[in-house]
Amino acid sequence: MDMWVREAQIDEAAMTYKVKETLVRKKTKFQDLAIVDTYALGRMLLLDGIVQTTIKDEYVYHEMITHIPLFTHPNPKKVLVVGGGDGGAIREILKHTSVEKVILCEIDKVVIEECKKFLPEISCALEDPRCEIFIGDGIKYVHEHKNEFDVVIVDSTDPFGTAEGLFGGSFYKEIFECLTEDGIFIAQTETPFYLPDVVKRVYDDAKAVFPITKLFMAGIPTYPSGYWSFTIGSKKYDPENVDLSAKPELDTKYYTKKLHQACFVLPKFVEDLTK
Ligand code: SAM
Repeated sequence: MDMWVREAQIDEAAMTYKVKETLVRKKTKFQDLAIVDTYALGRMLLLDGIVQTTIKDEYVYHEMITHIPLFTHPNPKKVLVVGGGDGGAIREILKHTSVEKVILCEIDKVVIEECKKFLPEISCALEDPRCEIFIGDGIKYVHEHKNEFDVVIVDSTDPFGTAEGLFGGSFYKEIFECLTEDGIFIAQTETPFYLPDVVKRVYDDAKAVFPITKLFMAGIPTYPSGYWSFTIGSKKYDPENVDLSAKPELDTKYYTKKLHQACFVLPKFVEDLTK
């Protein structure tokens, strides 16, 4: 009998993936967690039935949410990741030799435990001595840490449930205060195809707080529509105008210095959301 996992990407559209094997399925205190092995994309993490990451395409998301802000900041030493329990962002952040410490603030410790067990390619850097794991709510953590981080990365689930408060003006004000005087913030901010209102609202909220706000796109096959946005808020450095010539070449599969500059060029319907 064929086994398929079906993800409702919006109420009216779904994606299905043929499953070889279910590796774990459990209810945590916060969400329904599953890791399945799929034929098309390899192992896949789902939370509340929503695809979070897969072995085949995870590098796009994890490279773009990290290298764009970390190469924009001239000397990022201390980084905070809110969410991100799979560890993919941590793996990429630690490729930057300037980084002395990265805190992973994840609300659900079971995500970390199961990703360590079943997704070692993604979670492999979580044991690095430069990485410190804090289990708790990112909203509270950010509120309690002022003027501390060079880069804050919000690698969260979609804006519902525990992650709802991680999107929006009041949280961005707290992030502004959590950052050092030339700090940079980035968040994954959904798809402009299906959720243009969310993309616009988040962008406008960030723009109301940060002197420089930019939106960029990446192609992520397993996220709804395959076309995903990220929003950057920066106190000082413009991510679109960085001199990357002296930056080291990192071992990446999606990010390149050329792409860093190009990804801010937006199609008209997306650019319109930033006006
Ligand atoms: N790349 C992913 C995506 O866009 O689908 C996000 C991956 S990561 C697994 C998201 C994590 O955010 C989840 O493990 C979830 O537990 C965590 N999370 C949700 N709300 C949170 C909060 N308020 N504080 C800290 N972590 C949170």
